Parts: sequence; C-alpha cells; structure tokens
Amino acid sequence: MAQDIRVRFAPSPTGPLHIGGVRTALYNYLFARQHGGTMILRIEDTDSNRFVPGAEDYINESLAWLGIEIDEGVREGGPYGPYKQSERRDIYRQHVRQLLDSGKAYIAFDTPQELEAARAAIPNFQYDAHTRGQMTNSLTLGAEETQRRIDEGQQYVVRFLVEPGRDVEVNDLIRGKVVIKSDILDDKVLYKSADDLPTYHLANIVDDHMMKISHVIRGEEWLPSAPLHVLLYEAFGWSDTMPAFAHLPLLLKPDGKGKLSKRDGDRLGFPVFPLEWHDPKSGEISSGYREKGYLPSAVVNFLALLGWNPGDDSEVMTMDQLISKFSLEHCSKSGAKFAYEKGIWFNHNYLMEASNEALATLFRPVLIENGVDPDKFTDQYIAEVVGLVKGRINFVRDLWDQARFFFVAPITYDPKAIKKRWSADTPAQLKEMITIFDTVDDFGGPELEPAVLGWIAEKGYHLGNLMNAFRLTVVGECKGPHMFDITRLLGREETERRMLAGIERIRIDEPAV
Ligand code: GLU
Repeated sequence: MAQDIRVRFAPSPTGPLHIGGVRTALYNYLFARQHGGTMILRIEDTDSNRFVPGAEDYINESLAWLGIEIDEGVREGGPYGPYKQSERRDIYRQHVRQLLDSGKAYIAFDTPQELEAARAAIPNFQYDAHTRGQMTNSLTLGAEETQRRIDEGQQYVVRFLVEPGRDVEVNDLIRGKVVIKSDILDDKVLYKSADDLPTYHLANIVDDHMMKISHVIRGEEWLPSAPLHVLLYEAFGWSDTMPAFAHLPLLLKPDGKGKLSKRDGDRLGFPVFPLEWHDPKSGEISSGYREKGYLPSAVVNFLALLGWNPGDDSEVMTMDQLISKFSLEHCSKSGAKFAYEKGIWFNHNYLMEASNEALATLFRPVLIENGVDPDKFTDQYIAEVVGLVKGRINFVRDLWDQARFFFVAPITYDPKAIKKRWSADTPAQLKEMITIFDTVDDFGGPELEPAVLGWIAEKGYHLGNLMNAFRLTVVGECKGPHMFDITRLLGREETERRMLAGIERIRIDEPAV
C-alpha cells in the first residue's frame, strides 16, 4: 500500500476494557503490523462523568499482557500528541470555533427540562431541521442575544447543523457501501460549555484527522455514528483524507442471540475482561482471563478467530502467523458467537506446547496461594512435576489439583478406594515392598519397576489391589501419573515415609466418610 498505514485503538477509560474492546485492539494491531504501519493508543476521556480511576492503567496493562504493542500513545509519546483527549482542549476549542464561524454548527441553550418537554410534546422528537427553529439556540435568538447569554454565563452546547435531504455514503471495508438519508440524523452535540470539553464525535474526528489515521477499525456499535462522521469530515473540508472505515461484527452470547454481556460470563463461568478488575466504587471483583490461568497467546488466538477467518483451516496460530494472515476482507459482517469453550481448548493447546520450565514459573504463585513454599523445591523438580501432569489440565491452576501430592503428603485417604483396594493383608505386603526397595541400587532408576512387579508376581499378590493400595498411601487417592514416575520424583525416603504413615492411618473398619 502506498499510503502510510496508521490505525488507532481509542478506548474510553470508563471501566475495565471489555473483551470485545480487546478484540478491536488486536485487529488494529494485526493490521498495522502486517502493513508495517503504526499502532496508536488514544485515550478518549472527554466524558468526565463516566471517568473511572484506574481504567487507563488497566488498558495499558491488558494490552501489554497480550503482546499488543503500541507505537504512539500516552506512555510512548509520538509526533501527534498529546494522545489523551482531556489534554487537547485547545485543539477542540479551535475546531468548534471553525465550525461555528463557517455556519456548520450553532449554539444551543435548551435546558434538560426544555428538551424533556419537547420530547413529550413532539412524537419522535429529534433536534434537527424540523425542530431547531422552535428551540432556544443561536439560529432562533440571533447573534446579539446569543452573545448576551454567553456573557451572562449561561451554559450552552454547540450542535452540528445537519442539512436535510442529503444521501450520506459510508464505505465500509467489511460491510460495503451503506447510504443513509441525512434526515434521520439529529444535530448532535459537539461541545459542552459546562465542562469545556467536546463530545466523542468531535474529538474523535479531529483526532483521527490530526493523527493522520488511515483506517478506523472499531466495533459495530459505532456504525450508526459513521454517517455523522462523514458529514463532519466534509464540514471541516477533510473529505479527501477521510480514513477508511471497517466496523467489526458484534460478539454474541455463546448460547443464543444478542450481545455478549458480563452476565453471560457470570452465568456460564467465563471472564469477559482480560484481567481481574476491582471496581473502585462498589469493590466488586470481576474475573479476568489472566487470573483464570489463560495464556496470553491462547486468548489472542481465540479472539482473532471471533469475527475473522484465515481463509483456510488453520486454527492454532501465533501472533506472527496471525499478522501475516490477517485481512479485513475475511472479517465477517454477521455477529460472532462467543464460544468460550473454544478459548479453553486453545488454552489447553498452548499449555501443551509451553515448556515445563515456563509452566513451572506460572505454577509458583499457585503453589504459594495453596500454602506451599516453592523455594523448598528445585526448579527442576517443579518442572518435572508439571511435565508429568500437564496433559490433564486446561489451566495453570488445575496443576494444583493434579499435582498437590508432589508438594504435600496426604493426610486423608479416599474412603471408596480403601474399601475397594485395602485388605487385612495390605499393611504386611506394603512393608514387604519396602524391603524390595533395598534390592535395587538406584531407587529413582528404571530397575525399581521390574523389581516390584516381579516380586508381586512371584508372591502371587493381587497386582491391581496392591499397586493401588501403594498409590493410596503415597497420593491419598487412586489417581495421578505413572506410580514409578511419582516415586522417582518423591525419592525413597519420602515414599517410604508416606507408606508407613498410610499403614498407620488406614483402617478398613473405619466407616466411609
Ligand atoms: N472512545 C470510543 C470507544 O470507547 C472509540 C470509538 C472509535 O473507535 O471510534 O470505543
């Protein structure tokens, strides 16, 4: 592409970044990287009423966790800053003035009560060519009275003057050409004197223009604003450099129609936020993909396929592969069902591919959470444990369930297994087994297994019962990896200690609990 590709992710810091917003950021990033372009992060914080402390940091941390790198932004800086809208007031003021001077916008004083009254009196009221003549604005009051009111300190808004009878064309790279009659648009508020800030529409257009954005890739919920944006570019005389639009499909509920919501996540048990979020006002905690034990690569892969397909049957793709395969042409128009199970599937896949050492690092905090000091074990031990059980997990935290006995000896024993496997002869047989351990030079070596199995066969003991009783004393239940892998890692001393403790504690006459 001859043109410089410059895209932006432009979240409003009004709360935790929703997973749909993360997908928008990801698609912008993939597109930018594929074209050797620039990825911009712009903070759209002009709605002072909805500002939430911590939300901006949350956005930065989420993108960093997922590997979505920003080239220009609040932290990174860049030639078109500031990248935070609340620091661009002067720029917006000038642009509002420009529209007022050219007659493309006007000043309105209507109070909320007056607007309410108009809505009640006029069916389907909208502030437009048909009604603006009856409202309290600079068009009806005249320049002098308008100035008098401003000087007096009356609050006002600036509204965009939408000409009726126009066909407004929006060319969308995903949806094709959409034509909308300007009559259905209202005279949107562009600026409010009360907080001396522009609204989303004005700030968004001015910044996209000034930051030389080439492509606006954003969620479908912004499609209804696009005709107004086209008219704004025109009003400023910027139509020639208007960015191309691409409105991404909605994320839908996993089990039906309608937009994905936080409630769906609560109901079905999956997060809708990248990171855990602690609401500063309510104190409510919402779960996040990171804390649930998802790997960022799995989340990226899962999200990439929600609304885009690579055109072949590739599924597991790294960020680099996604960058080379991504295309807006392969984004779908229709909503994408949020099939969260697929996310779990991706996570399992990526866990299987991760090295034992990398997983061991992720497992350490889980060990600490469960009261185990990981420093009491070598990195190699933890990595080997992880290697033995990882085939059975979907999340890093599942490792605890599968591997706890590698870190703490059992103190209770599965009563069902006792009933099935333990008999009056078991203690003596286990004690005898310990003497067999003496016959091999290396307890952790390959000779142990044939020695024990050979002895069981020779004595005619019940192989299944005895091996399971053995496992019961060491693990606490009849599960886990291969028995001789467990004993190799635990070592002779610990294995023996557990066997003797089991013999001491397990009683067959005990009622099952
Ligand atoms: N600030 C808007 C948001 O929160 C940006 C929409 C756009 O990308 O134009 O999503």
